[in-house]
Amino acid sequence: MAVISRKAWGAPAPKRVDRISSTRGVKVHYVGSRVDPRLLDDHDRCPALMRQIQNHHMDGNRWSDFAYSYGACPHGDVLTGRGPGVLVAANGPGRNEDHYAVLGFVGNSGLVEPTDEMLGAILDAIAILRGKGGAGREIKGHRDGYSTDCPGEALYDWVRRGAPRPGSAPPDPDAWPGRLLRYPPVTRGDDVRRWQAAAVRLGYKLTVDGAYGPRSQGACRLIQRRARLTEDGIVGPLTWAATFAPT
Ligand SMILES: [Zn+2]
Ligand SMILES: [Zn+2]
Repeated sequence: MAVISRKAWGAPAPKRVDRISSTRGVKVHYVGSRVDPRLLDDHDRCPALMRQIQNHHMDGNRWSDFAYSYGACPHGDVLTGRGPGVLVAANGPGRNEDHYAVLGFVGNSGLVEPTDEMLGAILDAIAILRGKGGAGREIKGHRDGYSTDCPGEALYDWVRRGAPRPGSAPPDPDAWPGRLLRYPPVTRGDDVRRWQAAAVRLGYKLTVDGAYGPRSQGACRLIQRRARLTEDGIVGPLTWAATFAPT
């Protein structure tokens, strides 16, 4: 990923800058008109598209600047728009204080499917806005709370799936859940169920019911003894590992 500065893509100076210190998160946008699919094979067209949109926003709409915080190109680069700490003009009247705005370079025809690199660039832009602009955890689409097709079906579907980073590994089902399983009181949950099933696979007599009670505690102590761990009857990361991958 590269961050392309305003200077590098040829942005004129903004006519006005309104500072903000934080938002609830970020809204994802698309171009909303046709995006030439030749963009895919020609990264030089990406800064040109930024300039075209900037012209439209400043000369056409008479806005103070390119409306979005960042653009995200199909080659994985992040192009700086208003950047962190600056109010956007993209989310609709009264909705710009709550969210920053990141523009994915897909349109309503032509190039409509984001590349994995573009999705990664959107997430990179969001990470910058969180790190430098006080953006909160929300990732939403322009259409959330405003009547618009934006950010298009493909991007909105991705947002609704929780905006996963493409190619990232699915969560490891054998990984320690990050909390201690102990009794008393009874710890309940799917992580308990997973641990109990692993203990049963090792030959311990347990009901896989998702409730970490005295029998689970007893099995835990035996597993800990066999693995030469402290016999405290509490499933932490070492005991979890000893249950899923006994040595
Ligand atoms: Zn939008
Ligand atoms: Zn590009």
